[in-house]
Amino acid sequence: MKHTQIKGINLCPRCELRPTSFKQRYCSPCQLRVSMYGGMAAPIITDEEIIEHYVFEIVRKGCRECEENREGLFFYEAGVQEENGLKWYMSKIYCKTCDIHYDELFEVRGKLNESNRNSEETQE
Ligand SMILES: [Zn+2]
Ligand SMILES: [Zn+2]
Repeated sequence: MKHTQIKGINLCPRCELRPTSFKQRYCSPCQLRVSMYGGMAAPIITDEEIIEHYVFEIVRKGCRECEENREGLFFYEAGVQEENGLKWYMSKIYCKTCDIHYDELFEVRGKLNESNRNSEETQE
């Protein structure tokens, strides 16, 4: 597992999507999830959580051409496709204002070698 670091900000080791909260081990949504499990090891992040995160981003950004994001004008369908052990998180987007369809690829996550999955923690 790689240690992900962007501009000195630690990415949450659970989701690798969002920075960790101040003085927390995880980002807030993960932290919440972890505390729901009594602070014990939370279940690993699910595809639903990842997609949820990106859907939020899509709606926030809106259409890549005109930034339209109103309901009824901006449509999206997000999901995950698995291929050769890799997961492609992506979305099909349609903007009625521009009348364009496009695909947006969010992230590819690999699970090629399942046996090598002992989590080396980024925490000090
Ligand atoms: Zn997280
Ligand atoms: Zn548009």
